[in-house]
Amino acid sequence: MPYPAGRHFLQIPGPTNVPDRVLRAISAPTIDHRGPEFAELARAVLAGLKPVFGTSGPVVAYPSSGTGAWEAALVNTMSPGDRVLAFETGHFATLWRNLAGNLGLDVDFVPGDWRHGVDPAAVAEKLAADTGHATRAVCVVHNETSTGVTSRVPEIRQAIDEAGHPALLLVDTVSSLGSVDYRHDEWGVDVTVSCSQKGLLLPPGLGFNAVSEKALHAAESARFPRAYWDWRPIIEANRRGFFPYTPPTNLLYGLRESLALLDEEGLPNVFARHRRHGEATRAAVRAWGLEVLCLDERGHSPVLTAVLVPAEHDADKIRALILDRFDMSLGTGLGRLAGRVFRIGHLGHLNDVSLAGTLAGVQMGLALAGVPVDPGGVNAALRVLEAA
Ligand SMILES: *Cc1c(COP(=O)(O)O)cnc(C)c1O
Repeated sequence: MPYPAGRHFLQIPGPTNVPDRVLRAISAPTIDHRGPEFAELARAVLAGLKPVFGTSGPVVAYPSSGTGAWEAALVNTMSPGDRVLAFETGHFATLWRNLAGNLGLDVDFVPGDWRHGVDPAAVAEKLAADTGHATRAVCVVHNETSTGVTSRVPEIRQAIDEAGHPALLLVDTVSSLGSVDYRHDEWGVDVTVSCSQKGLLLPPGLGFNAVSEKALHAAESARFPRAYWDWRPIIEANRRGFFPYTPPTNLLYGLRESLALLDEEGLPNVFARHRRHGEATRAAVRAWGLEVLCLDERGHSPVLTAVLVPAEHDADKIRALILDRFDMSLGTGLGRLAGRVFRIGHLGHLNDVSLAGTLAGVQMGLALAGVPVDPGGVNAALRVLEAA
């Protein structure tokens, strides 16, 4: 392979491109995690995370992937055999369901077509039928990264409240936090699950749980064995700026910097930028004559777009060609979408010109792969970006 000049385009929906300022922050020397300098760092990042989650309550940080944060949300609030309600919005919702099942929870998994978000009416119907209140939690993936569909969390909360049901609301924001408007407190979420490598502009390695009063209360009577994931010793140690075990110090340096970047741009501007990039990408896909996977107009994801390829083409061959010719990585089709879609990530550290370059690379790749596309796609996206 000859040396590829210029930057690799990492246009997958996570891990995302890490800004240079964050990389430089991470490269500082590791310090004593029981010393005064560390306590200052920990207090700063734990406080700085709160506005991003939209909470005034605790945010628990783990040295983990998002999957660890999924498990933490369940083992801290549930007991073996508890019933949870979940929705098959796509691959990540399915993985969370499988994890819950492996832990020994009884998951009522509402089937879905992988092209729509959670239907709040289905939540209402399920909970109205559960007159004995056996369901202990409702699990929702806010932004389904395998399909590019976002679910409407406030309407789901409203459905739970209207049913007068006491179930906890657990929401996965792994690919939406820091990119899509989200409000843990205002929306009445009990546990918000997230991690570092998508909208938070960091490498993989940090998992998060934002925790409501009600969830903390549930943790007192939850009977799952838990040690590493136990919120209580972590929240206790965090009060003094420490952790009960060695935290990923250098990722916390990076987090301090990425929180500063989000603050400098302003979260409302960050959200508007992601919405604009989603709209521009969909304009390109439709002008190419291809189909966006998401069928729900209210659910188009601001952070990624899954594109269906014509049946006679293999989406992974197109991705391989684009990687080889243009040094750009696109997201693969996951689960039942393997070979059927490719995913364009447009989240995190991205501006209009980077998106334009991304779409140009996709357009050239499609043409070279023999997919009949209208070359007006990129122009359609540029018009959306110009108009903003
Ligand atoms: C990426 C992702 C996960 C999994 O995170 P890992 O860090 O790979 O464990 C979970 N949920 C969603 C919605 C994701 O996008």
